[in-house]
Amino acid sequence: MEVEIVENVLKYNKSHAEENKEAFSKNKVLALNILSSPGAGKTSLIIQSLKKLKNKYNIGVIEGDISSTHDANKIKEYTESVVQINTGGSCHLNASMVKNALTKLNLEDIDILFIENVGNLICPVNFYLGEDDMIVLASVNEGDDKPVKYPPVFIKSNLVLLNKIDMFELSNFSKDFFLEKVDQLNPGVEVISLSCKTGEGLDNWINWLEENIKLKKTNIT
Ligand code: MG
Ligand code: ZN
Repeated sequence: MEVEIVENVLKYNKSHAEENKEAFSKNKVLALNILSSPGAGKTSLIIQSLKKLKNKYNIGVIEGDISSTHDANKIKEYTESVVQINTGGSCHLNASMVKNALTKLNLEDIDILFIENVGNLICPVNFYLGEDDMIVLASVNEGDDKPVKYPPVFIKSNLVLLNKIDMFELSNFSKDFFLEKVDQLNPGVEVISLSCKTGEGLDNWINWLEENIKLKKTNIT
């Protein structure tokens, strides 16, 4: 019985996700679903990206949070196109929440849409939102064992970001171990190391974004 309910929820989610996907392709919006544990730096990453790209592209942000508007208010300083989703305690975004949020954004004018999921490495993985790419953001201070403890998010993500590399010296983080485990789970997946604090490595992320916007714009589907 329990299993049946879960399956229904996911089926329902999938149909909304397909609608979102269609809206993204119709408007040529690069939609990115960003996952991490709390405090890994999703909001900082989005703010750094906005600083670097806001004069070149129109960027929208959907902020998923359990209850506060703290992050959305920070992001409002850099773009008008911010929608807050308060999940009312739920620990993940689902496609219908995103679908509702999209009605508050002018997708025709948006090039990149960052969807900041709720800080949680477990269940958001099961809820496809219609995005082009799922991106997992790990950070050095969390330790190098995240891929070992939370394999699904590393298996499903199209890109792995490693943030807070300015903290290598303060931690026992083994980059080799981390990279080896990530590659075992998701062979060949791209990993970009960066620091939102010092700016080191950010250009690689910005290049990734620009390449993927170009692909999305030229994709005739
Ligand atoms: Mg945040
Ligand atoms: Zn959840």
